[in-house]
Amino acid sequence: MNGDIMKKTIPFILLFALCSILYKPVINVSSQQTLSRKVVVLDPGHGGLDNGASVGKVNEDELNLKICFALKEELENRGATVYLTRTDDQDMTRRNYNYSKQDDMYLRALKIDEYKPDLFLSIHLNSSHSGAWGSQVFYYKKSENGKALANCIHQSMKEITGTKKNISSCEFYVLRATQSLGVLVECGFISNANERGQLKNSRYHKKLANAICDGIENYEKSLSPSS
Ligand SMILES: [Zn+2]
Repeated sequence: MNGDIMKKTIPFILLFALCSILYKPVINVSSQQTLSRKVVVLDPGHGGLDNGASVGKVNEDELNLKICFALKEELENRGATVYLTRTDDQDMTRRNYNYSKQDDMYLRALKIDEYKPDLFLSIHLNSSHSGAWGSQVFYYKKSENGKALANCIHQSMKEITGTKKNISSCEFYVLRATQSLGVLVECGFISNANERGQLKNSRYHKKLANAICDGIENYEKSLSPSS
């Protein structure tokens, strides 16, 4: 009886093994390599003595970092080389006393350019007293490529965040002072209770990361439509 079961089972096992061998490379090719040879810098806003926006014990700087970790994982899954301006709860000066926004931002911009990235993303959360909600992507007003990148990321993010906001030009220091192409992404409003609930959730971080990576891919495709 055992012999019979073995005879019937072995062909199925062999077929399964053959299918695994045949299909695995196809899956790998489609889920990787889309951002290979791309260098991306992620800049989690604030840190250390600068919590950014906060509601109760929920601080923007901590959530920015968590979203950047999810983004790093997804970008690396797609073949990119990724650097972060900070990886712990410190600002760029790492002084932990006498916080200076000016020093922090100066060092942040220098660090971003040091990596000579293809692009960088500053990740932030928004805050308002009006109950506002929704993601928004900002680009430096003099950068046409920045505008195109912002638009691609905005289009894919809005499928997740449902935002009614549009992309916006700005003169934020981190975009103005850097030589590299970059955008600033406000992932949502920490001040809005519903959105705050989502922004604290690690599964939502992965969804945001996926959407932002799709946006970057679409931008890259728009540069070389033939490939
Ligand atoms: Zn911020």
